[in-house]
Amino acid sequence: MNKKILITGGAGFIGSHLSRRLLREGHEVLCVDNLFTGNKDNIIELFSNPRFEFMRHDVTFPLYVEVDEIYNLACPASPIHYQFDPVQTTKTAIHGAINMLGLAKRTRAKILQASTSEVYGDPEVHPQPETYWGRVNPIGIRSCYDEGKRCAETLFFDYHRQHGLPVRVVRIFNTYGPNMHPGDGRVVSNFIVQALKNKDITIYGDGCQTRSFQYVDDLIEGMVRMMDNTENFTGPVNLGNPGEFTMNDLARKVLALIPESTSNIIYQPLPQDDPKQRRPDIALAKEKIDWEPKIGLEEGLMETIEYFRDKI
Ligand code: NAD
Ligand code: UDP
Ligand code: UDP
Repeated sequence: MNKKILITGGAGFIGSHLSRRLLREGHEVLCVDNLFTGNKDNIIELFSNPRFEFMRHDVTFPLYVEVDEIYNLACPASPIHYQFDPVQTTKTAIHGAINMLGLAKRTRAKILQASTSEVYGDPEVHPQPETYWGRVNPIGIRSCYDEGKRCAETLFFDYHRQHGLPVRVVRIFNTYGPNMHPGDGRVVSNFIVQALKNKDITIYGDGCQTRSFQYVDDLIEGMVRMMDNTENFTGPVNLGNPGEFTMNDLARKVLALIPESTSNIIYQPLPQDDPKQRRPDIALAKEKIDWEPKIGLEEGLMETIEYFRDKI
């Protein structure tokens, strides 16, 4: 059955991939975005599709539309962007969640929240299972994002308990791929763009901190499976690739895949509260939605490098 699906943040990196996937399945997609970090280039080829509609709107304001499902992705996700106007980031996470939950309540729509591995903060439990409550600084420079996303999860589960709303919460670990903005500021796009432009590769700190990088196609599959699961499994569920790499490893891999690059690696100060390690425990996703990532780091990096070669 074809559904009318709202994607907030639909012009961003992940939202633009999700829009394509849901259109391919035959659904109607309403993309709502204020274009703070997203851009029309990501979705321009969708404008000719009669089942696609774009609406420029800020989710901190109420939104009255009629939909069957909501994917709530609106929120800047890169530290440089979410720290640019931290108060607006918190408002987007929390007022945005309240408005979209209010909309879901009125329309009886199913609603999925794009939460984040950042809810685990700088974790002492490794790898991180969903049962870990996290270690987040409530007053630091990352808090607008981390605490905003944590409070959004609270709102989702309170609307679920109090109003019987069908909710889904996915905790997304570091994801990369085509349609990231060249100026996004996150590590994968930074290293690739730097290497392609023969600029210094900027490693923050000693480069021994770790992250687990997931290719965007794997994430989209997990998000759709989560929304569509018929057992009313709400999550929260981790969606990430358990492969774990240091930033030194990542820089070396990117340079190996762009052999013509003359870039040097340089070391810059580590930002405050930067998590030292991160890796998802994905046993729950395997059990509940039969999901695990299929695309390894090298394969995903090659796709992403090709995208940026054309872009810059
Ligand atoms: P992105 O910055 O490319 O996309 C975010 C989109 O939200 C942009 O198009 C932006 O313009 C829009 N937006 C921001 N504030 C808005 C507002 N107030 N009203 C309407 N639109 C607004 O980032 P992304 O990587 O595509 O992230 C999408 C979602 O996934 C975010 O909620 C993010 O927190 C979450 N997430 C992403 C990752 C990742 O590694 N990419 C990891 C964890 C969670
Ligand atoms: N809301 C919205 N669209 C709707 C319904 C509600 O944007 O279709 C917003 C509205 O601004 C409200 C919020 O969602 O403040 C929360 O709605 P809810 O019904 O939970 O709370 P209430 O309206 O009682 O404050
Ligand atoms: N990082 C880096 N160089 C960059 C950008 C980021 O070394 O040019 C580091 C950053 O300090 C962090 C890791 O890479 O330890 C991942 O950063 P990103 O902003 O991509 O994601 P997050 O910190 O939110 O996981």
